Amino acid sequence: MSDNMVLRGAKLTDGRKVDIAIVDGVIAEVAEAGSGGIAGGRELDCSGLFVSSGWIDLHVHAFPELHPYGDEIDEIGVKQGVTVIVDAGSCGADRIGDLAASRAAALTTVFALLNVSRVGLQRIDELSDLAWLDKEQAMQAVRLYPDFIVGWKARMSGSVVRENGIRPLEIAKELAEATGLPLMVHIGSAPPKVEEILPLLTRGDVVTHYLNGKSNRLFQADGRPIPALIEAVARGVRMDVGHGTASFSFGTAEAAKHSGVRFDTISSDIYRGNRQNGPVYSLAHVLSKFLALNYSLSEVIGAVTANAAQWLGKPELGRIQAGDRANLTLFSVTGEQITFVDSEGATRIGEHQIIARGVYTNGRFIAC
Ligand SMILES: [Zn+2]
Repeated sequence: MSDNMVLRGAKLTDGRKVDIAIVDGVIAEVAEAGSGGIAGGRELDCSGLFVSSGWIDLHVHAFPELHPYGDEIDEIGVKQGVTVIVDAGSCGADRIGDLAASRAAALTTVFALLNVSRVGLQRIDELSDLAWLDKEQAMQAVRLYPDFIVGWKARMSGSVVRENGIRPLEIAKELAEATGLPLMVHIGSAPPKVEEILPLLTRGDVVTHYLNGKSNRLFQADGRPIPALIEAVARGVRMDVGHGTASFSFGTAEAAKHSGVRFDTISSDIYRGNRQNGPVYSLAHVLSKFLALNYSLSEVIGAVTANAAQWLGKPELGRIQAGDRANLTLFSVTGEQITFVDSEGATRIGEHQIIARGVYTNGRFIAC
């Protein structure tokens, strides 16, 4: 049973107001607000609200039993206005089947990046033993879940790789090439250094945590991007925010904006701890920080809709179009002043806050 309904008078980020009719979970019509051509089903007055295609969070941790990096799918999905989440490497080949099975009980659509280590985040040093980088087992998982696994994940920081340096990334890249799937690489504290990591990445690969403020970061002390970053962006390597507990610095974000190294996608790296205690709280909260950095609403929302959908190779998830399955997020933009805190305790004052109000996805309307 799908919820047939008409969303009346919601605003798009380009300022147009529309009525959207949904029949049997599919967008039947998108019309200029008040044009009256559409009717049927439940009416929802959306005046004062914005509508976009459903938000996509490209970096979350949605395998609840893992500590510290785990959470419940719908808590970080539809309840926060996020219709599609991509679990970023919580599981390797050992547990990816359990993550795939957990989708059945969720209202949120879930995809996964397979951790190149078979143990995934059952350990937080999952690349410290090369025996866990079992290529045949990893390839087998990709063959088993072709509609679920959308890429690979490798966490390239010192506490994860320990003595193995750049070697896990070389193996990850071999897996990515063998499967034709992109690779998301987490950057953090060295070793390895970002200057060793970036040259291995090619078009379509993603650097997550690109705005971190750690010493092994992508921007020099004077704020200019390191040469390897400029080269990577020119090759088509994509930049993802992956805010997380420790990986978003306002200072770095300002340097990136000043030097024109734009985000492709804004993701949260959300899990139980940073959802409940900050500094992430929600994808909407992370998006609001980018309004405080003076990005426009359409740039910010575009990063979690069209841009993310394009990277997934699923453009229909990033648009509002008659004939597509309805995948929508309703949100408001409030005007109260708010103090935002980054991963290092630095603050900025914002004038606006994005608040998720509801989603329509998989045939159902869910209020936030
Ligand atoms: Zn993460």
